[in-house]
Amino acid sequence: MDATVALCPLHPERPAEGTCSRCGTFLCEGCRRWQVGRMLCLHCHTVALGEKPSKRATLALIFATVGFIGFVPGLVGLVLGYQELAAIRRGAAPGSGEGWAVLARNVGWFHMAMLVIIGLGVALRG
Ligand SMILES: [Zn+2]
Ligand SMILES: [Zn+2]
Repeated sequence: MDATVALCPLHPERPAEGTCSRCGTFLCEGCRRWQVGRMLCLHCHTVALGEKPSKRATLALIFATVGFIGFVPGLVGLVLGYQELAAIRRGAAPGSGEGWAVLARNVGWFHMAMLVIIGLGVALRG
């Protein structure tokens, strides 16, 4: 047996095609499950589906949305979005919040850009 090839723990005859992004277990082609671009094992996929997005993911999205009124709350959404994404990558927050966190981050960057443009406009005029 080639020691450099990782094998699926459930199917020792199959080579691992990757690892679960949540628990790190080796996965063969048949064991792989996908969720928002992440490779997960069957167990973690089931767990992830049952999870609700964290409070921070919800807050990030709310702030990002409220940012359309005055841009500044959007920056809070931007920061929360980044924090939430980092937590999801560490496995400290449910993966179901990833879509919201990404949205909050992207919308937050839009608000940031608007503030810079407005700020520049004021600076040039003043
Ligand atoms: Zn897993
Ligand atoms: Zn397998």
